[in-house]
Amino acid sequence: MKIYLAEWLVTQNDARDVFSPGALAVEGGSVVEAGPAPDVLARHPGAETEDLGACVILPGLVDAHAHVAMSAFRGLGDDKPLAAWLQEDIFPREAKWTPQGIRDAARASFEELLSTGTTSFYDMYMLEENVFAAADEVGIRGVLGENVTRFFPQLGGATEEALFDRIRRNAAAWRGHPLLRGAVTPHAVYTTEPRLLKRARALADELGWSFGMHMSETRGETRDCLAEHGLRPIPYCDSLGILGPDTTLFHCVDVDDADLEILLRRGCAVVHNPASNLKLASGVAPVVKMVRKGVRVALGTDGPASNNAQNMVRETWLAALLGKGSSGAPDAMTAQTALDLATRGGAAALHDPRIGSLAPGFHADFFALSLDFPNMRPVHDIVSNVVYAASGAENVLTVVAGRPVWRRAGARTTVRRGI
Ligand SMILES: [Zn+2]
Repeated sequence: MKIYLAEWLVTQNDARDVFSPGALAVEGGSVVEAGPAPDVLARHPGAETEDLGACVILPGLVDAHAHVAMSAFRGLGDDKPLAAWLQEDIFPREAKWTPQGIRDAARASFEELLSTGTTSFYDMYMLEENVFAAADEVGIRGVLGENVTRFFPQLGGATEEALFDRIRRNAAAWRGHPLLRGAVTPHAVYTTEPRLLKRARALADELGWSFGMHMSETRGETRDCLAEHGLRPIPYCDSLGILGPDTTLFHCVDVDDADLEILLRRGCAVVHNPASNLKLASGVAPVVKMVRKGVRVALGTDGPASNNAQNMVRETWLAALLGKGSSGAPDAMTAQTALDLATRGGAAALHDPRIGSLAPGFHADFFALSLDFPNMRPVHDIVSNVVYAASGAENVLTVVAGRPVWRRAGARTTVRRGI
């Protein structure tokens, strides 16, 4: 057992308990206890301790929508319309990808994610076995899906059969991994067709994997789906029988009340990507309304070519402010609600009930922001400081499954060996 001590511990448990000073007892990759430091220490005399000092420990943030290999394209074609950006800047470069290039770019993204407190991610891209390999190397937790589109040949396969074979091979290669799981991820309604979507759904059921796709990102997508299928994207997908409680839908910007009723009925999770939606001028997802209705909502960065950062501390701040600004009510998206989306909402989107909180039995996935920064003092409300004042650069330590996977160089902590 090891006990981490800090000035503050934000548990994000059901009661949203906050302890100061706080202690987190960890064993075998799981949380054993989270509580006031004197109580936890008294119950486990002689345990090894690491005192992080003037820090706040939080559950690891969850980036519930990412394309981590796209870090290689950061800063290319900024400020262009989506179609021109894809055709002129992204597709020509993606055609030249090598497996090693994807692996290296994913590694760079994991450094960015881990250094800013993200411990879990949900990725969709191409040649995804390279993202699996890179994630395995660094020890981050994730759900990973190969893009499924109707355009062949594509990087994932020369034919549809080759693409589905690749997904099955990945399933066989990574089955039982302690941190990584697969998902079947059709790209979007406008890059697929009914038969292909149903086939992808059937494959998810066959493999026991969850199911995710981009959904209702723009008004143009809705217009085209209505023209082609006579239905908006969400009713269209529902008519195909592909939506369920294992389904995670990325964006959901252009959704109406009837769409939200379907999401509630089917139990789908939604991932809000505030920076990407604003940068691409896609619009503002009605997240405040979704949360009020009880839709499970998480936060994501989307790709680093449309954000352009992969920093969930920054994303949480933006989600809070955007929720207020778009609804005209300062209490419409509180700091606590925004932090809930980035943690507990992420658990719903990744279909992993053991992440997003620090409570007994949960995975020991956490990070620690230093309070030795002028923007982090005074502490009247620690959650306020984390959401409204932090930048992510204050992080000193990131732990996944009880294993430190990132440390700020030169960070001072006090370790006492157990007896
Ligand atoms: Zn995306």
